[in-house]
Amino acid sequence: MQDLGGKPVIVRTYEATKDTRLFDEVYVVTDSELIFKEIELNGGKAIMSIKEHDCGTDRIAEAVEDMDVDIVVNVQGDEPFTSKSGLKQVLSVFDGPDADKIDLASLMTEIYDWKEISDPNSVKVIVDKENFALYFSRSPIPYPRDKNAAVQYYKHKGIYAFRKKALLDFYRLPMRPMEAVEKIECIRFLEYGKNIKMAISNIQSIEIDTPDDLIRANKVLKDGNNIVVNNQYRNFPMVPKVVYGRGSFDQLSSILAPQRKDKAPFIYLVDDVFKDNADIIDRMNLRFNDKLIFVSAEEEPKTEQVDTIVKNIKGEFTYIPSGIIGVGGGSVLDLSKAVSIMLTNKGSAADYQGWDLVNTKSIYHVGVPTISGTGAEVSRTTVLMGPEKKLGINSDFTTFDQVLLDPDLTASVPKDQWFYTGMDCFIHCVESLNGTFLNEFSKSYGEKAYDLCKEIFLSDNLSEVESRGKLMMASWHGGMSIAYSQVGVAHAMSYGLSYVLGIKHGIGNCIVFDHLKEYYPEGVRIFKEMKDYHNIKLPQGICNNLTEYQMNTMIDIALSLVPLWENALGDDWKSKITRDKLQDLYLKM
Ligand code: NAD
Ligand code: ZN
Repeated sequence: MQDLGGKPVIVRTYEATKDTRLFDEVYVVTDSELIFKEIELNGGKAIMSIKEHDCGTDRIAEAVEDMDVDIVVNVQGDEPFTSKSGLKQVLSVFDGPDADKIDLASLMTEIYDWKEISDPNSVKVIVDKENFALYFSRSPIPYPRDKNAAVQYYKHKGIYAFRKKALLDFYRLPMRPMEAVEKIECIRFLEYGKNIKMAISNIQSIEIDTPDDLIRANKVLKDGNNIVVNNQYRNFPMVPKVVYGRGSFDQLSSILAPQRKDKAPFIYLVDDVFKDNADIIDRMNLRFNDKLIFVSAEEEPKTEQVDTIVKNIKGEFTYIPSGIIGVGGGSVLDLSKAVSIMLTNKGSAADYQGWDLVNTKSIYHVGVPTISGTGAEVSRTTVLMGPEKKLGINSDFTTFDQVLLDPDLTASVPKDQWFYTGMDCFIHCVESLNGTFLNEFSKSYGEKAYDLCKEIFLSDNLSEVESRGKLMMASWHGGMSIAYSQVGVAHAMSYGLSYVLGIKHGIGNCIVFDHLKEYYPEGVRIFKEMKDYHNIKLPQGICNNLTEYQMNTMIDIALSLVPLWENALGDDWKSKITRDKLQDLYLKM
């Protein structure tokens, strides 16, 4: 009956369960008059249970005894944030080919931290190859005789879906010794030979067991209702440590040394253009069980790729790494940021695409850019292609703990790529400086980067060494400029190109920006000058052969980036940009 955002917890739980639309009927079963009345008062359905019960399962069994039901799901009254996807997963096992064998279904979640694995408050479960439960225990099961053996541990989550018969059996059958000694209800089913099918769900939910939990839940509710990003007073983290200078790459191993934790390795994620570059690899100076993973930047990073790397690291090492070091362009830097987050947060990287969804601090992570322009080295985002969207994990834990800026590392970048990624920086500045979110903070960085870009890309009095140093700092300032404002039209449309056609960020921005003189007249004029000066030829007619479906998807993706349009065109952006307009622009590219 405690208040959660203006309604009692139980009412919230009831409404959330109903809102999933997964059930024919939802009831609150209670022995409390107060709760019964409250639910009815709110237009819900409640059942008074007659007897005193040892546990919720018994109470539910009593309630459904005379109902004509097939499957009954027990949602705990103190779980107002019970997720639809978790309930869906537990129900979906009854659609599988082995449905007839299943007496009840429940959920389990992957756990990795030995503290949690050995914590008796977290109930572990082991399963057979079809995911039927073999046993539940407060002990770590299986027991890892060899601590380095890779095995996945699962924690049991207390959501059950019962066949009615199994539920009633439970109610009638006396407790047996194993349940009594472990104090785990569902062992009773195993002791009586029932089949429990387990589904995996890695979505975290908040249970409310203590007053502190309630305070936290109230906060989550408040923040959840307030998903509008606070652009006016953004409180964002900056990179706390940075080293700059030609040859500073040699400092890397001494910078890392104090961060090394006992047996925990450093993991280096390195762009595979450096695969045969013995000099670079040598200078990284790997020690002990440190690991070098080469990654391709051919395609932009994907949530799935992040998940795989994380899984492999967890499979190979008993300890969470001492840190992640990303050496490469925007692609590798973003991948490194995401991996460092996912080593301490459950589920898939896709669960965290959006704003401030990350709960737990990431592990120590270091960024070493080898190409300049994206500003990924300073930003609090990591842009990822997910199953449903291309969107960043924007969080305070994304930002690097340390950045190393050595302009010499960019010496080998091919000319075209240098231009595309450099233009990402230029476009960041144009979009930030012409946006409605602009303020002095953003402006001071944006103007500096804009001037540097003009000098780098349009004057001929810089040496290559000077030019590399300046572009590295332009990238940094451009990134800082958008941190307190936002990008705009070119980025929104370029995300569409990238999602549908796989066109990479840098070149995609150039292709789009070339056609945006209506929105950024001065910026586009200078861009064209730069393009001619460096004799860059952009592809043409890339949208000519799109199907209607592809074109619509592209437009959907572009329009979904609300903050970008708000920045570019103001609050009433919807009246200023139409689907037809976007289609026209895409067809010109
Ligand atoms: P990239 O990392 O994709 O690399 C481009 C190409 O250059 C690759 O083929 C790579 O192998 C090569 N390369 C990198 N360094 C090199 C070197 N020193 N010598 C030779 N070749 C080298 O390119 P990018 O433009 O830096 O990054 C694009 C990515 O950055 C996109 O995925 C984009 O979404 C992301 N991005 C992120 C942010 C952010 O704030 N997090 C901002 C902008 C862009
Ligand atoms: Zn960009």
